[in-house]
Amino acid sequence: MSESENILRRLAAVRAAIFQAEGDFGRVAGDVRLVCVSKNFDADAILPTLQAGQRVFGENRVQEAQRKWPALRQAYRDVELHLIGPLQSNKAAEAVALFDVIETLDRPKVAAAVAAETRKQGRSPKLMVQINTGAEPQKAGILPEDADGFIGHCRHDLGLSLSGLMCIPPAEQLASPHFALLAKIARRNGLAELSMGMSGDFPLAIQLGATYVRIGSAIFGSREG
Ligand SMILES: *Cc1c(COP(=O)(O)O)cnc(C)c1O
Repeated sequence: MSESENILRRLAAVRAAIFQAEGDFGRVAGDVRLVCVSKNFDADAILPTLQAGQRVFGENRVQEAQRKWPALRQAYRDVELHLIGPLQSNKAAEAVALFDVIETLDRPKVAAAVAAETRKQGRSPKLMVQINTGAEPQKAGILPEDADGFIGHCRHDLGLSLSGLMCIPPAEQLASPHFALLAKIARRNGLAELSMGMSGDFPLAIQLGATYVRIGSAIFGSREG
C-alpha cells in the first residue's frame, strides 16, 4: 500500500471512531470536529486528506505553518487552520494573519498582543485559552486556579471574544480528571468549545465533552525521525 493510501485508511478509521464515540456517549453526530494535526508532515502527506474532504488542521509552529499552508490554501480555500502550539507575543501578527483559530492563549502578554493585532488587521481568529490542568512546570497554559481571572481579563480588559478552552493532560496520568476539569472551567465561564483528546485518548475526551479532538499520529503515523 502507498503511504497516501495508509494515511487515507487511518483517516477513515479515526472518523469512524469519532462517529462511534459520539453515538456511544450520547453526543449529537457531527458535534465533534476533527483537527488533523499535520505538524512535521509536508504537503505530500497533507494533500490526500484534503482530497478526502478534511478541512480542519492543526499546526504547532507559526513558521512551519507559514511555509506549508499558503500554497495549500490556494487550492483549498475553505481550510480552517488551528494554532495548537505556544505563541510568542512577537509572532502574534503572523499568527493572527494566518490562523483561523488560536487555541493557545496562555499569558496576559500574548493575549494583549493578539488583541492589538486583531484590531490592527481587522481579522478575528477564534480564540481559546490553554489550561495547564496538570500544573506541570514545563508545560504552557494558565493554571486552573488562575483560569477565571485570566478569562475575565481577556474579556473585560482586552475586549477579546473567547470561544473555548484547550488542554494537554500530563502524559503519564489518566486523562479523564483533566478533561473533566477543563469542561468544568468552561461551563462556569460560559465557554462552548473544548479542544481535548489526542490519538491515544480521544474517545474518552468525546465522552467528557470535547468539541474538537486534535489527532496527528493516528492519521499520519509516527513523527519520529
Ligand atoms: C502533536 C499534538 C497533538 C497530536 O498528538 P497525537 O498524539 O499525534 O495525536 C495534539 N495536540 C497538540 C497540542 C500537539 O502538539
